Amino acid sequence: MVMKMEEGKECGDCKEGEPCGKYHVYVLELNQDDEKTRNEKGYLYVGMTGKTIWQRLEDNWTKYGNRTSGAPPLIRRSFMRFRMDLVPPSAVSSLTREEAERREAVLADDLREEGFRVKGPRVRENSRIAM
Ligand SMILES: [Zn+2]
Repeated sequence: MVMKMEEGKECGDCKEGEPCGKYHVYVLELNQDDEKTRNEKGYLYVGMTGKTIWQRLEDNWTKYGNRTSGAPPLIRRSFMRFRMDLVPPSAVSSLTREEAERREAVLADDLREEGFRVKGPRVRENSRIAM
């Protein structure tokens, strides 16, 4: 698998194969095979991880390689490339998992609003904490 990073906006504190200890929001672009559901802007997957985003991507083939439902099989089948150019600098790394999960859901909703087809959480599902 040959992968190229768009703009260098992945976490600057992570080293290759060595996560920095913070939580990262990432965006992948997926292939759209089905013409009927095809979205002109693109099909995105928004996720969150305490690993480096590359380790997490690899997990879909290794750690989660046997999963037949959920995101791993979708990503194995349809991964095109990272779209870190769509991740706001403030969401690239967070100190806590909760913060990263909130930013993940906000970004997924923002991208839906921009017209992308998005696989990922929604803010409403995520807002268990009363305001
Ligand atoms: Zn990092």
